Amino acid sequence: MVDPGPGVGERWPPGYRCALLVTIDVDGRYGEANFRPDDMYWISQTAYDPRGTERLLAVLADRETLATFCWVGRAAEDQPLHVRAAVAAGHEIALHSWDHRPYDRMSPDEQRADMQRSLQALKRISGMTPVGHKTASWRYDEATHRLAQELGLLWVMDEPGGDVPYLIQPDKTLPPLVQLPPSRWFDDYTLFVDDVLPPRQAFEMWRDDLDVLRDEGGMMGLTLHPFVSGRPGPSRTLAWLLDYAIDLGDVWIDRADRMAIWCLAQAGDPRGSV
Ligand SMILES: [Zn+2]
Repeated sequence: MVDPGPGVGERWPPGYRCALLVTIDVDGRYGEANFRPDDMYWISQTAYDPRGTERLLAVLADRETLATFCWVGRAAEDQPLHVRAAVAAGHEIALHSWDHRPYDRMSPDEQRADMQRSLQALKRISGMTPVGHKTASWRYDEATHRLAQELGLLWVMDEPGGDVPYLIQPDKTLPPLVQLPPSRWFDDYTLFVDDVLPPRQAFEMWRDDLDVLRDEGGMMGLTLHPFVSGRPGPSRTLAWLLDYAIDLGDVWIDRADRMAIWCLAQAGDPRGSV
């Protein structure tokens, strides 16, 4: 495991043994449209995104928990009322590219323009300034995180390089970023699309993950999609996991920006006191 950096104090805020981060990637039709172009069967499944977003917002509200919504720019323009509903409920809005094209097939200039366009759209629609970025389909290259630094962001969620957040600084002249490690196995797409697990089995898998990470003081960073985890049965997987974590009493469930700010503070970075 990689520690957040020099001068690190406590890994988590007082009273917490581990962290549970819920990120929800709202891709609209653009995720499947890039991943499986010309396959209307799959693209049509994403028409459920608005309904799924509403159900996930309800699951979170019922448990008074906050999450981070990584919103594709074009999808935000398609569903601005849902973006504003997430903001009104206290959730974070983060960048997830303009139209879900993979960054590892784009030049640095194209990536920069894509990030800036997404940032402006989300700012205009949400009234918030995003401070985090998750690349579409986790397809990034050596330029992506330099550009995230250039944009002044605090966190990215692209590389599963351990079980705790860690600092990266590809451009040594710019402040570092907090890398919040994701995982293919914490992605609902793996559990309910690549395979179709019964929701109870998916819950048991994630509960076992959380138990181990709680023993070790780690972080579980979920990646959910409204057209997947927002479906009726799969929404129970998130509901049961949140109920389980809340009952444990020492799991920090919060937004990515707050976790990043905590990590920066522990590393003595002045942005940690924002
Ligand atoms: Zn996505």
